[in-house]
Formats: sequence, C-alpha cells, structure tokens
Amino acid sequence: MTGQPHNIADGLAQVNAEIANACREVKRDPSSVTLIAVSKTFSGDEIEPALAAGQRVFGENRVQESKGKWPALREKYPGIELHLIGPLQSNKAKEAVALFDAIHSVDRASLCEALAKEIEKAGKSPQLFVEINTGEEPQKAGIIPAEADAFLIACREQYGLKIDGLMCIPPHDDAPAPHFALTAKIAKRNGLALLSMGMSADYQTAIEFGATHVRVGSAIFGSRTLSV
Ligand SMILES: *Cc1c(COP(=O)(O)O)cnc(C)c1O
Repeated sequence: MTGQPHNIADGLAQVNAEIANACREVKRDPSSVTLIAVSKTFSGDEIEPALAAGQRVFGENRVQESKGKWPALREKYPGIELHLIGPLQSNKAKEAVALFDAIHSVDRASLCEALAKEIEKAGKSPQLFVEINTGEEPQKAGIIPAEADAFLIACREQYGLKIDGLMCIPPHDDAPAPHFALTAKIAKRNGLALLSMGMSADYQTAIEFGATHVRVGSAIFGSRTLSV
C-alpha cells in the first residue's frame, strides 16, 4: 500500500453520511438501511477503530478467519452482529450457525439441508439470504433468476427454512442498477423483506433500488492487500 495511512473512523463517517444522502434522495428513512462493514482480511487491531467509532455490524467471507478474530472482539464490545457474506461449504454449516447472526450465501439444496439440520440442533437461526446470480455468471455462486421462485419454495417446504431476503453481486463490468432492480423484483414477488446489495462502488445505487443491507469494505477500511 502507498500514500497516507487510511483513517477508518473517517471512512466510516463518510459512508454513513453517503447512506443518509442516498436515502434522502429517494425519500427513505436512513434507519431502513443497515451498513455491514466488511472486515475480511483485516485484523482485530485494524477493526477496533470501527468498533470504537460505534459500528457494530460486520461482514466476513470466511468461517475460519472469523472464528479466529471475532470471539475476542465480541467479548470486548457488546452488541456485535456478524454477517457471513462469502460462500459457505456444507461441512461448515454448524460453525456458521454458531458464529453468525446472518448468512447471505444460501445458494444450493445441499446447503439448505445442512443448515436446516444445524439450525434445529442449535435451536436458533441466523437471518438467511438466498444469493441470486443475476448475471448468470458460470463462475459465480447463486441461484439463476429463472430458478429463484422454485428454490425459495423448496427452502420453505422441503427444508423448513425461513428465508428473510435475497443477496446479489452484480457482474464486475456491468452497470449494477438492472441487477439490483431484478433482485428487488424477485424479492417482492416472493414476499421477502430484506435485500443485501451494494458494495463500496455502488451502494448508493443499491439504496435507490431498495437495499436494506449494504456490504461496504474498502470504502471504510481502505484497500485490501489480498484480493479476496
Ligand atoms: C468483499 C465483499 C464486499 C465488500 O467489497 P468492497 O468493494 O470492499 O466494498 C461485499 N460483498 C461481498 C460478497 C464481498 O465478498
């Protein structure tokens, strides 16, 4: 990394201000948007300034990494809410249910089955989001839009899972708006209230299209040295 050390409290304040602005423009209440500060690859020491500034909702993309750094932070700062935003292997479902308050990457039947089993055993459920592969990119996780309605029915009827919302990651080179609009449309016709969409480059646009959860990393914490 080069240049000035990144100030995390400033980054956080700026993102919160931009969220408030984006909400004002489309006449939404800023409290209807939850900022998930995406702290993947950053250490506990690097995350602490955000906690000290009052941020309590964080996103991580790996179970293993989260297990290493969050238990200690949770002891020190009450009220932390942790979201898993990366892909989840079925054999990590138990750990994920134990550790996370929300899982944004429900994307296949075998994972639904594993989650349903662990949720029942644990007697508590994280919030669940089904990931939609709106760009139908073969390398990307998620349910393709044409299969979303049937998958959501299967989640409920076959696996007894309560799905709370949808998540999408638009293709890197596309304008994000149509992807956000499509995700919002699928959520609406399936009666789902939550929409996890928008990252550092496009969270204002996502808010315009109804995002209830924006996942913002680099705009808060600075650029990641590892690309994950
Ligand atoms: C890393 C990541 C983010 C945050 O990306 P930034 O561009 O750093 O804001 C959001 N969502 C997912 C699924 C991610 O993996």
